[in-house]
Amino acid sequence: MVKRTAQDIRRGNRFDALRRVYAAPGAVSRQDIAAATGLSFATVANLVAELIEADVLVEAGYEDSGGGRPRARLAVNAGRGVLLGVDVAETAVQAQLFDLELRARHGLELPLPQGEVRPADVVDAIATAVEDLLTASDTPPSRVLGAGVSVPGAVEREDGVSVFSPYWSWREVPLRALLAERLAMPLYLDNPLKAATVAEMWFGAGRDIDDLVVVTLRGGVGAGIAIGGTLYRGATNNAGEWGHTCLVLDGRDCRCGKQGCVEAYVSTAGVARTVRELQPESALSHIRDGTATVDALARAAAEGDPVALEAVGRTARYLGVAVANLLNLFNPQALVIGGPTAERLGERLLSQTRRAAADHALPQSLRAVELRLSAVPDNPVTLGAATFALEGFLDDRKTFAPVKAGRRAARSRAAS
Ligand SMILES: [Zn+2]
Repeated sequence: MVKRTAQDIRRGNRFDALRRVYAAPGAVSRQDIAAATGLSFATVANLVAELIEADVLVEAGYEDSGGGRPRARLAVNAGRGVLLGVDVAETAVQAQLFDLELRARHGLELPLPQGEVRPADVVDAIATAVEDLLTASDTPPSRVLGAGVSVPGAVEREDGVSVFSPYWSWREVPLRALLAERLAMPLYLDNPLKAATVAEMWFGAGRDIDDLVVVTLRGGVGAGIAIGGTLYRGATNNAGEWGHTCLVLDGRDCRCGKQGCVEAYVSTAGVARTVRELQPESALSHIRDGTATVDALARAAAEGDPVALEAVGRTARYLGVAVANLLNLFNPQALVIGGPTAERLGERLLSQTRRAAADHALPQSLRAVELRLSAVPDNPVTLGAATFALEGFLDDRKTFAPVKAGRRAARSRAAS
């Protein structure tokens, strides 16, 4: 069993404190962080001193504390450096450059080759995208604090290995080592389920709640799970593969090799198959790929097309049952549905999913939860990947060389 060391605890507290500043930049004092996290004021003052020392936080004015000493408001030092977030999806690589406040400054998308994609193709697309972003934003590589890369499928993050990719049948590709040959910056590898969940924890529904499930609906589907404010990874970083839990016994073939998986019904390809089953003659049944089908389906449903409405309703029923299973298993305070399919089908999908989930979840689990669409702007996966880079930077011993005891004590006194 892995023991939590004093350093782990300090690191967890540092993330926890900083998340409060990201949630309300320029409006949070040390006292607010202590109240929100349950940490002592002295602990918060120490953490903040470290973060100011590392130039991550700055004091941004004072608030009136009603007769007492004015309290300093804290903000993130946006200009401290840049972070990169990369989302490798089935057909394209999307990359964004963020300031330290995690505001997207530049972005671009590069298509991947059609058909079988080799690791070298993905490495080249990622490296090219990052180089182009740095050029476009006139950023020297020395200003990059880190780059987070999300790749679909199973990822071994410590060693930076893409263990298995469902799209391209890769196994054990040392992606981070391959990327390091092209990019001289700290690199962090994980998958879109984890990235979307971390984005939600720092910038979405998870800002004010600790028990959260984030469902991502795209070419593949899955869930990310936050328990007590911490991303749950499982023994091999494989937790959340809800897309490959069984929804229909002896059901549709899934690309994982099994039958009846959730993904076979609510992925973009699954939705396209539902349309074809409902009405093979519909124009919607003859669209080239799943993503384009979902786009067309959203437009047709908005115009009241009966096949489209029926297909959305049936998708919501599949999704609702699978969501009810998550509610019964994890009893979260919020379940967020995100990803391109949720974005396109929006409230229409959500309201019917809610009804279907209500038919299948236990009342206690249902009452506790708020089902909502993701409110993270833009692409939660690039944002989450950049957040992994932020976490890596914050974790780096070089960033947090121990502040001299005398100086820290002086800062704490000044802060109290
Ligand atoms: Zn499967």
